[in-house]
Amino acid sequence: MNDERPSSPPQDTMMQHEVCLRRVQQHFVQAVCSCGWLSAARRSESLAADEGRDHAILYGGAFREEII
Ligand SMILES: [Zn+2]
Repeated sequence: MNDERPSSPPQDTMMQHEVCLRRVQQHFVQAVCSCGWLSAARRSESLAADEGRDHAILYGGAFREEII
């Protein structure tokens, strides 16, 4: 399991990428980022998580595998 937490303090001047998962219409899961990015809604939670993780890695953000 990868559980990396950024140790740097939050910086308001930088664009933050905090990705988490959101349930859509009961059977779908979508990754959402604080920058406004959204993944496609996926039937597979792990697929949506992969896309969200990719986005977080790409922009140096944080990914939270937690459905809100
Ligand atoms: Zn983002």
